[in-house]
Amino acid sequence: MIECPYCEAENIEGADVCEQCGQPLSDMYLPTPDTAVERSLLKDRMSALSPKAPLTVAPDTSVGDVMRMLVDHGIGCAMVVDCEKLVGIFTERDALVKLNVDYAELSARPVSEFMTQSPEALDIGAKIAFAVQRMDLGGYRHLPIVDDDGHPTGIISVRDILRYLTEKMTTAEKA
Ligand SMILES: [Zn+2]
Repeated sequence: MIECPYCEAENIEGADVCEQCGQPLSDMYLPTPDTAVERSLLKDRMSALSPKAPLTVAPDTSVGDVMRMLVDHGIGCAMVVDCEKLVGIFTERDALVKLNVDYAELSARPVSEFMTQSPEALDIGAKIAFAVQRMDLGGYRHLPIVDDDGHPTGIISVRDILRYLTEKMTTAEKA
């Protein structure tokens, strides 16, 4: 068995792609990560990004209220939580795409009508490389972090990862 370096799923020897995350295994395995940044990406976990606490709202919160909260907090997405569990995510992009010029007439409607349901979420122990891969494949700018009970504990954004990479590159240059 070989372990996928992204998601750590066990795959049978010689598998071309990881059964769990779809990452190609063949070209991953031969070259060992040759820069300090690549090594960090494959070693460090979400916890290294110090995920921010999520902004959580109930499904029946009006989408207008959610948008105001996003603006007030200067963040790009809210997690929609029902009975302590993550059921959806509403991002600034949803606001642009789904509300747009109809904002005034739609703002009193519940956020649940505009959220992305059952968003992909990661465990705090997931590797950063895995998060990057999921964001890339899914076109996500945000990824929620949930605990074993599906309760959201944090949020990471593309920007968090860029900051992490920049820090790693700076450190690598100094070394
Ligand atoms: Zn995998």
